[in-house]
Amino acid sequence: MRKILIVLLTIFGISLAKDVPSIIEEIVKYDKSFIKQHPKSYFENFKNKQKPYITLVSCSDARVHMNVLEKNPINKIFAIRNIGNQLLTSFGSVDYGVLHLHTPVLLILGHSHCGAVKAALGNYEEEPFDIIRELDHLFIPLANLKNQKLDFEKKWIKGVQANVDYQVELALRKYKNLVNERKLTIIGAVDDFVNLYNSGEGRIIIINVNGETNPAKLKKLPIFDNLPEREKDLIIKRIN
Ligand SMILES: [Zn+2]
Repeated sequence: MRKILIVLLTIFGISLAKDVPSIIEEIVKYDKSFIKQHPKSYFENFKNKQKPYITLVSCSDARVHMNVLEKNPINKIFAIRNIGNQLLTSFGSVDYGVLHLHTPVLLILGHSHCGAVKAALGNYEEEPFDIIRELDHLFIPLANLKNQKLDFEKKWIKGVQANVDYQVELALRKYKNLVNERKLTIIGAVDDFVNLYNSGEGRIIIINVNGETNPAKLKKLPIFDNLPEREKDLIIKRIN
């Protein structure tokens, strides 16, 4: 079957990378099992309207996905992804989630070992033009850190935090009224699959809520009232 497919594609003059047939096979196989587990009635619930509760701005990094936040993110997370979890390069999409879909949460999710932050902390002038254009926006949050003499691992995660804080700040400027009216909460977090925060690999660490970045103050916010203290200690942190 695979050979026939390759022959057909060659006849029609389409050139494909060699791994594509197995990737297609994987997609079809997964989709088949997905459909099996989700009857028609499942789709009835949302076929005319989406109703997510989170507008998510996360990095495109393949190690960061919506299932770190929610087992089944369908119709729950309105996701915007780009290199470096940035608002400036995607503000139209962010507006759609916040202003049209009225999600009560705008979550900006950075992550440990972010390649975009690493690139922006160094020299990236050899990159293709469009990558440079997107990374250039990271200059502002990283400017202070760039020339600091720090162990690189520490500089890197501090860069990730500075970027998340900057994105929260940009969102606050734009959606200040919604925040003041308590219709929107802007949360900045880091998906720590490296365990840099010592809370375990894969923990989502909250570092910023509506511009507040002090962990001690964050822990007192009513949005965390449902969590026991030991849980707050695990997830609300900052690397200084
Ligand atoms: Zn990244």
